[in-house]
Amino acid sequence: MEQKFRELKARLQEISDLGNIGAVLGWDQATYMPPGGGAARARQSALIGQLAHQKSTDPDLGKLLDDLRSYEESLPYDSDEASLIRVARRGYEQLVRIPSNVMAEFYEHASLSYQTWTEARPANNFAKMRPLLETTLDFSRKFANYFPGFEHIADPLIDFNDYGMKASSVRKLFAELREKLVPLAQAISTQPLADDSCLRAHYPKDKQLDFGKKVIGQLGYDFQRGRQDLTHHPFMTKFSLGDVRITTRIKENYLGDCLFSTIHESGHAMYEQGIRMELEGTPLANGTSAGVHESQSRLWENIVGRSWNFWEYFYPELQSTFPNQLGKVKLEDFYRAINKVEKSLIRTEADEVTYNLHVMLRFDFELQLLEGSLSIRDLPEAWHERFEKDFGIAPPDDRDGVLQDVHWYANLVGGAFQGYTLGNILSAQFYAEAVKAHSEIPEDMQKGKFSTLHAWLKENIYQHGSKFTASEIVQRATNGSLSIEPYVKYLTDKYSRLYGF
Ligand code: ZN
Repeated sequence: MEQKFRELKARLQEISDLGNIGAVLGWDQATYMPPGGGAARARQSALIGQLAHQKSTDPDLGKLLDDLRSYEESLPYDSDEASLIRVARRGYEQLVRIPSNVMAEFYEHASLSYQTWTEARPANNFAKMRPLLETTLDFSRKFANYFPGFEHIADPLIDFNDYGMKASSVRKLFAELREKLVPLAQAISTQPLADDSCLRAHYPKDKQLDFGKKVIGQLGYDFQRGRQDLTHHPFMTKFSLGDVRITTRIKENYLGDCLFSTIHESGHAMYEQGIRMELEGTPLANGTSAGVHESQSRLWENIVGRSWNFWEYFYPELQSTFPNQLGKVKLEDFYRAINKVEKSLIRTEADEVTYNLHVMLRFDFELQLLEGSLSIRDLPEAWHERFEKDFGIAPPDDRDGVLQDVHWYANLVGGAFQGYTLGNILSAQFYAEAVKAHSEIPEDMQKGKFSTLHAWLKENIYQHGSKFTASEIVQRATNGSLSIEPYVKYLTDKYSRLYGF
C-alpha cells in the first residue's frame, strides 16, 4: 500500500506541476507579455491544460485511487494521507465525468467568447454576445447534466467552486441576509452621502505602490515567497507554496483602487502562503473553496483594512507619504471617505453594504437561466428591471449592466457568484471567532501589530489547505456552522455608528 501511495503522490505532483506551469504562462500573459505573443501563448496554454487534463483523468489514476480505498479507511480521517486520497478521488471523479473532447470544445468556445466580450463590452453591444452566451448556457447545462441526481441544475456547478453548497442552501442564506441588508442600505440612503473627494486628488504611482507594499508586508504577506506586479484586473496566482504572487493596478486620480486591491489580493495570497509545506505538490495545497478564499481577502481588505483601528495606526504614515493631498484631511473624514456607502452600478466598485445585493441579483439570474425560466434574449431587460427594483437606479446601458462582469463571458453560467457573498459572511464569522480567542486583536491593530490575527487564521484555516471542506473548516474553527449573524452585526455596528442612527 505504501508503494501505491507513493505512486499516487508522484502522479499528483506531475499534475500539480503542470497546473503551476500553466499559471506561470497565465501570469506572464497578464503582466509582461507583449501583444504579439498572444496567439502562441494561447496555443501553449491550451497544450499544458490538455496535458494536465489527460493526467488528471488517466484510468490508471482511477485504479490507484480505488486500490487505496482500504488504506484510506485504515487511517484517521484528518491525517494528511487519508485527506490526500479523499480529495484526489473527489477531483478525479468530477473531472472524469466530463468527456475530454467536450472540455476542449468548451475551452475553445470560452476563449472566443472572452475575446468577443473584450470588444463587445466597450461597444455596449449585447447583440454580438447573445449567440455566444446562448452556447455558453448550453455548455453549462450539459456540464451540470454529467452529474445527474441533483436537486437543482445549478447544484453541480455550485459544487465545483463551493463544494457542499446547493442552490437551495445558498438561496435560503441569501434571503436571510437580504432581509437585513435592505433596511440597512435604506437607512443609510436617508443620510447625506459621505464626501470622498480627498481620495480623488492626484496620487503619484510609485508612492501608492510603495505604501501598499509596506502595509501588506506588515499584515504578514511574505515577499520572500511572493512579489507584486501590475496588471489590468488584479489577481493572485501561485506557482508553488514558495512563490505566491499578487498583482495590482493604479489609478493616479483615485487612492482607493490600488491600496484596497493590494490588501485584497494579499489576503488571498496569505492563505496560500500559510498552507503547510508538507502538502506541497498535492491537490491539498490549495485554498478549500471559493467562499473560504474570498473570506480571507475580504477579512483583510474590509474588516481590517477599512477599520478605524487600522487607520489610527497607518493614517499618520499615509499623510506623511501624501502631505499635499491628505495633510489637512482629518482621520474622521478619511475614514468616512473609504467607507462611503452609495448605490452604484458596478459590483467591483460597490461598498460593503450594497455589494451583496449585486451578487444576489447575478446568482438569481444564473438559476433562472439554467432552469430555462429566463432566456438570454430577455436577460438585458430583466437585468434592467431587477436593478432598478433593488437599487433604485437604472443602468444607462448594457455595458454597465449585463455585460459588466467577465464571468459569464469567459466561463460557465452558474456557480460563479455565490462565493463572493459566502466570503463576506465567513469573513465576519472567522474574525469574530479570532477576537473571541484573543480579545487584544482590535487594540493590536492600533499599534500596527497583526501577528496574533494572522497566527489565528493560519492555525485554524490557512495551514489545512484543502484537507477539510468549507463546512468542516467552519465547524472546526468556530464550533458551529455557517451563520450570517456575525456579519450582520459587524455591518450594523459599523455603519450605524458611521452614519449616526
Ligand atoms: Zn477575491
